[in-house]
Amino acid sequence: PTDLNALADECLRLSYHGLRAKDKSFNAELVTEFDPSLPKVDAIPQDLGRVLLNLFNNAFQATAERQRQNHKGYKPKVSVRTRYSGSGAEIRVMDNGPGVDQSIRDKVFQPFFTTKPTGEGTGLGLSLSYDIITKSHHGTIECLPAEDGATFLVRLPGMCT
Ligand code: ADP
Ligand code: MG
Repeated sequence: PTDLNALADECLRLSYHGLRAKDKSFNAELVTEFDPSLPKVDAIPQDLGRVLLNLFNNAFQATAERQRQNHKGYKPKVSVRTRYSGSGAEIRVMDNGPGVDQSIRDKVFQPFFTTKPTGEGTGLGLSLSYDIITKSHHGTIECLPAEDGATFLVRLPGMCT
């Protein structure tokens, strides 16, 4: 039994402070909405934690990149929302970075797919996350079409009610 809200909160802070340790000028607004009625999920916390870290690292890197491009009045923002849908748990990770272009949306989960400069991205984070969520947790992970920025949705069907 894993407390998804607590795990997400811990990973979010770890990811944020990790990036800030490398780039002191990076500042993001963190918005969390954790559903208090969410039961524990049936999950391997180390593996689910890796998935969350990958998603948060990507979100912070994307907003940091947009900030470096020096958009006037731009303020990096990463939002995390959990929800109990009755059939399972959902966690949504949203950022206001450059977003994922529609033309690459179905490629981002492929191993070694990266748009980051050599040495910065391995292109393995989302493919590993895909395997963890679909194979060992029987869930789904998607990159949703978003008006602004990027949105990733993870659904976990296994609940400990
Ligand atoms: P890496 O981060 O090493 O590039 P990932 O598998 O984590 O590898 O992500 C693959 C690619 O998906 C990234 O290079 C980027 O193009 C895209 N991507 C993932 N998350 C985001 C995001 N939050 N915003 C914009 N693009 C993203
Ligand atoms: Mg990554």
